[in-house]
Order: sequence, then C-alpha cells, then structure tokens
Amino acid sequence: MSASNSTRPHVVIAVDGPSGSGKSSISKAAAEKLNYKYLDTGAMYRALTWFCLQEELFDENEIFENLINHNFILNISVDPRIDQVSVNESDITAVIRLDEVTNKVSFYAAMPKLRSYLVQRQQDLVINSAQGIVVEGRDIGSVVLPHADSKIYITASDEIRAKRRALQSNTDENEVLESQKIRDNLDSNRKISPLVIPDGAIILDNSTLNFEESVAAFIQIVRGA
Ligand code: C5P
Repeated sequence: MSASNSTRPHVVIAVDGPSGSGKSSISKAAAEKLNYKYLDTGAMYRALTWFCLQEELFDENEIFENLINHNFILNISVDPRIDQVSVNESDITAVIRLDEVTNKVSFYAAMPKLRSYLVQRQQDLVINSAQGIVVEGRDIGSVVLPHADSKIYITASDEIRAKRRALQSNTDENEVLESQKIRDNLDSNRKISPLVIPDGAIILDNSTLNFEESVAAFIQIVRGA
C-alpha cells in the first residue's frame, strides 16, 4: 500500500529539516493544537540503531534478515502528548537520545534496505491513522509522503541550532556545532533519500522566532494549505 491521495482519507503534513531546527518540538506542539497525530520518524531510525548496537549488527543484509524475520518489533506512539518508543517490549524512549545512538544513527540510516523497510512502516502508520497526522523527518515530503497536503521545511542558522542543542543537553556549544556539522553532512550527502527541501515545501526559518511564534507560523501554513 502506498500513501497516495486515493488511499489517504485524512490531512497529512510532511515536515523535514536538519537536526536542532526545533522541528520535533514545533511539530509535536502544532499536532496537539490541531488535534492531529504525530509521527517522529527519527525515533524509528534511532530505535533501529539501538537494536543493531545491542545485537552487534553492522552488516546491512544481516540486519535486513532480522527485520523480515520479525526480530525487531517496534512500537511507537503517534499521540503527540505521549513520547514512547519500544523495541521487543523494552521501553527505549530515553536511551535512543543518548550520544552512543545519536552518533551512529546516520550510519544505519544510509542503508537502502533498512530505509525501505522503515518507509513502508511509516506509510502504513499514516494510512492507519484515524486522524490528520504530522509526520516529521528528513525525507518525508520527498520520499515517504510526496502527496502530503502540506510540506514544511523547518530550519534555523547553524549557530542557533547548535546553541539550542547545547542548552538542552548542557554541553559545549562548539562541540555540538562540530557534531551537528558531521550529521548534517552525512544526512544531506548520502546517496539514498538525502535531506533536501522537498518540491512544494514552505520554508519555516525560525532563527529569529521563539517557540510560540514558530508553532503559530506552522499552524498558519497548515491552515493556508
Ligand atoms: O530527527 P532525529 O535527529 O531524531 O533523527 C536522527 C537521525 O535519523 C537523523 O540524523 C538521520 O540520520 C535519520 N533520519 C533519516 N530519515 C528520517 C528521519 C531521521 O535518515 N526520515
């Protein structure tokens, strides 16, 4: 099943953008206000990365075997008020945000078979959603949901993004800037589904906006669609 216009009964909002742009928190807050569901596809790549690290899996074909043999049972909340991710019934909501996962996720996210498996899961979650849904990631408007009703590309300057991440994680801003550059570079230059501004996307640059202003701008884009 694909998430084309004919199979999708509800409003679908595709959100993309680089790390630290605030796209998760803005998308989540906007989904809550709109009474939509919310899918964080980055959390799905993080969950798969966590699983591979646990199982010491590094080879794409071997990992794919595990996926088709149902050794990776992923459950992710699509309620914007509930942040919960589990794999094989272990709650991994917090651990997928740790550096050991963050620093490895781009490696696994560049593997085509793993991406097509997760893209299919994402499209199924959208089709099965009983409400409108905000889906957020790096390839949503370009690959996962090219027929979305609205496409929003959320971004901010490199320095602002690093500053926000540093404040959140209580780490040094220059260190964050360096690791952010590495991840941006890997995500934007990988061969398959690189981070791009999708055709038809509206750019929401929130470098000079506070959180509430960013959420309001997001909702205005959705309502104007
Ligand atoms: O959004 P977040 O920072 O949690 O995403 C973690 C990583 O997952 C990204 O750096 C990227 O490598 C990968 N990702 C992806 N495609 C998506 C969502 C996330 O490749 N749709």
